[in-house]
Amino acid sequence: MRIVLVGPPGAGKGTQAAFLAKNLSIPHISTGDLFRANISQGTPLGQQAQEYMRAGQLVPDEVTIGMARDRMEESDAEDGFLLDGFPRNIAQAEALDALLEEKGTKLDAVLDLEVPEDEVVKRIAGRRICRSDSSHVFHVEYSPPKKDGVCDACGGELYQRDDDREETVRKRLAVYHSETEPIIDHYKAQDLVTTISALGKVGEVTERAMRALG
Ligand code: ADP
Ligand code: ADP
Ligand code: ADP
Repeated sequence: MRIVLVGPPGAGKGTQAAFLAKNLSIPHISTGDLFRANISQGTPLGQQAQEYMRAGQLVPDEVTIGMARDRMEESDAEDGFLLDGFPRNIAQAEALDALLEEKGTKLDAVLDLEVPEDEVVKRIAGRRICRSDSSHVFHVEYSPPKKDGVCDACGGELYQRDDDREETVRKRLAVYHSETEPIIDHYKAQDLVTTISALGKVGEVTERAMRALG
């Protein structure tokens, strides 16, 4: 299956993507994680992305689309993938449409995670991520690690993302509304969108998502 996850920052995309990708046996492709991996490795791509991420702005399409395409062309993504955080504006959605068409394939579904803004703000404020594996995501209140600051899964160090500070979060939410939300209508026109509530326990949301994907 080829699936796109959409939803505001902090909706739970990464958390859900980890479970869904496992259940569906497809790779989880997160452009945010790819950028952060490049930044921590000090690659030129990371250097290009860093200032935009820090400011809560989108990384330019020339950089983002090439990175996403390269990742989708790796061998594990041949039969499907779950995209998390890409596409994030109309130009990226059109580039993805063109790429898939070139390969004679298309998306199966776009899953839209709906969460009220006050909940998103709480989720982001308490988010902690593992330095060794970005798919290990915790929350100081909602899913606390057994030991403060230490990843339950691998013992890695937990940290707060640079762009999870309040001023930057507000900017990211504004960018979501102005640039990313329009892709939902773009995909509605292709009859691909299912909207589900991302409130409730992580497992409940996963069940809702699996049902939505049929
Ligand atoms: P969240 O999961 O909180 O929405 P992400 O990890 O997806 O955050 O993204 C963090 C930042 O990485 C974004 O604010 C943006 O600067 C950059 N980024 C990630 N994906 C994209 C993309 N598809 N296009 C442009 N910038 C992106
Ligand atoms: P790690 O092994 O620590 O996870 P990688 O070097 O494999 O780090 O990078 C993580 C992900 O980022 C991989 O999926 C890789 O394909 C992707 N990646 C790294 N650099 C680039 C790049 N310049 N363009 C596209 N994808 C990249
Ligand atoms: P996104 O990738 O959409 O930015 P994340 O998956 O990183 O979102 O989740 C944001 C924060 O909210 C994390 O700290 C995560 O542990 C927490 N979280 C995710 N799903 C839920 C949920 N159903 N209930 C409460 N907290 C959640």
